Amino acid sequence: MAHRYFFDSVESFLPDALRGFVAANPEITWHRDPGFLARRTQTPSGRVAVLSGGGSGHEPMHSGLIGAGLLDAVCPGPIFTSPNALQIAGATRHVHSDAGVLHVVKNYTGDMMNFRIARDIVRDEGIETDVVVVADDVATESDGDGPGRRGTGATIVVEKVCGAAAAAGATLAEVTALGRRVAENARSMSVALDPCTVPGSDQPSFDLGPDEMEMGIGIHGESGTERTQWRPAGQIVQALLERILGSLGVAAGEQVIVVVNGLGSTHPLELSLVFGQVLEQLRAAQVRVVRSLVGTMITALDMRGASVTVVRADDEIVGLWDAPTDAPAWPRLAATEPGELMDTTVAEPDDAADSGPECGWLTAFVSRVQGAIDELTALDRQVGDGDFGVNMAAALGHFELPLRGSDAAVLDAVSRSYFVRSGGTSGAVFGTLFRELSKAFTESDDFRTALAAGTRAGLQSVVELGGARVGDNTVVDALDPANQTLQQNDSLAAVAHAAAEGAESTRDRVARKGRASYVGEASRGAVDPGALVISWLFEAAAG
Ligand code: ADP
Ligand code: MG
Repeated sequence: MAHRYFFDSVESFLPDALRGFVAANPEITWHRDPGFLARRTQTPSGRVAVLSGGGSGHEPMHSGLIGAGLLDAVCPGPIFTSPNALQIAGATRHVHSDAGVLHVVKNYTGDMMNFRIARDIVRDEGIETDVVVVADDVATESDGDGPGRRGTGATIVVEKVCGAAAAAGATLAEVTALGRRVAENARSMSVALDPCTVPGSDQPSFDLGPDEMEMGIGIHGESGTERTQWRPAGQIVQALLERILGSLGVAAGEQVIVVVNGLGSTHPLELSLVFGQVLEQLRAAQVRVVRSLVGTMITALDMRGASVTVVRADDEIVGLWDAPTDAPAWPRLAATEPGELMDTTVAEPDDAADSGPECGWLTAFVSRVQGAIDELTALDRQVGDGDFGVNMAAALGHFELPLRGSDAAVLDAVSRSYFVRSGGTSGAVFGTLFRELSKAFTESDDFRTALAAGTRAGLQSVVELGGARVGDNTVVDALDPANQTLQQNDSLAAVAHAAAEGAESTRDRVARKGRASYVGEASRGAVDPGALVISWLFEAAAG
């Protein structure tokens, strides 16, 4: 059996998860008989209670939405299976005060039946209830007499608006009417890049090829309406919005709330990226996005995918959306329209070295590194994590040769470039070394004096920064012998030789600093790429 989940036993997966959930959220309690979650605080007299529920596996919906201003109780069914009518009836009794109870139900046959039976049971006991059915998934839209649109992403919008209205003292009829208004004006559609797997099962809910995606999937791992090759996010969003807006009949100038939701295993960066596309395309269609929620709210277990929900929203609905709630999973949202889609790239650093006299030795150094990116990558793959070549290319790849300017100016440009353009340890280490070299060349016009002073200061700063000693397989193994030779007034050729020997000395040692230290014995046999690059610098200085 494939083990892709944390659990102690498949059978106890759900109760074990709920145990942790209620412990982490002490305002929420578990009622074992007949099995529901509810706020610890009783519904006050005169306030409508709002109750929801459904199959488990969609968390944080619904359990995370229990709290003031949102849901009063939730009936969790087994994974992807509706709760039973007795659970729902018990929860309804529990949250009922004297103003009635609203059920928010997703449009699935089992859910519809069990909530209906529960309402019949409690009606005979004199409890007034009503229901809002959420049916927003355009992927299952049909003219025929099938079950119709499934209830998906819009559910949390309905729950939020109804919960806020109930908290504000609306009557059951008013809360119900509001919920229906939201539900009727909401549409969603989902897309998956990977299917989900039920805990304990060794089969995913459907099979997707490595380069395939599926449009129109449901939140129970139901396969979708269209399997296609992977497409860029902008195209996926375009296809989703076309269906959603078409079904909703949204016209230019209308106000909407947008939810971009992760289906379980989608990274927050991806959801932000998708939202950027949704916002851009809706704005291009002159649809006014007045509020947004981007996050993982309604999941299909561990599915990699996203859903987009668009809700036509008048000012009353927006006001209720903005109302405070202390439900643990409701994010802190801006009560304003989304802002500008700005240029969020990083500004290019001011590191040109293209005016003045040619700077021969640094041109030779940069040229050497530019021509050795693959070699450096291969070395770091052996001794470290493989990104050293990329970092060197990022720092030095953009320079047009020959470099021009005084030694101090070019060294300063190289230092800035390392700091801003390169990542990893090398950006910090080489940026620091070149900054010290630049300072020394500003202070002295004599090449040898400046190189000696800069190397000494650079070595000192690099050691202060990273604590590396000779023998740790870092740039220090080349810098330290170069520094010693420089201070002894030997020839620059001797300095270069000392640096090269220092770099070579790293070959048969195991690294103790930087990423290379994590690979241990595997690093034996290859020179440290950082030390190698340092040796090239002194070789270039020797001319
Ligand atoms: P990362 O270790 O973050 O992957 P890079 O691959 O960009 O960084 O750089 C690795 C190089 O950095 C190594 O080859 C080594 O020469 C140098 N280095 C690692 N740790 C230190 C340190 N503590 N002091 C000086 N140089 C270091
Ligand atoms: Mg690395």
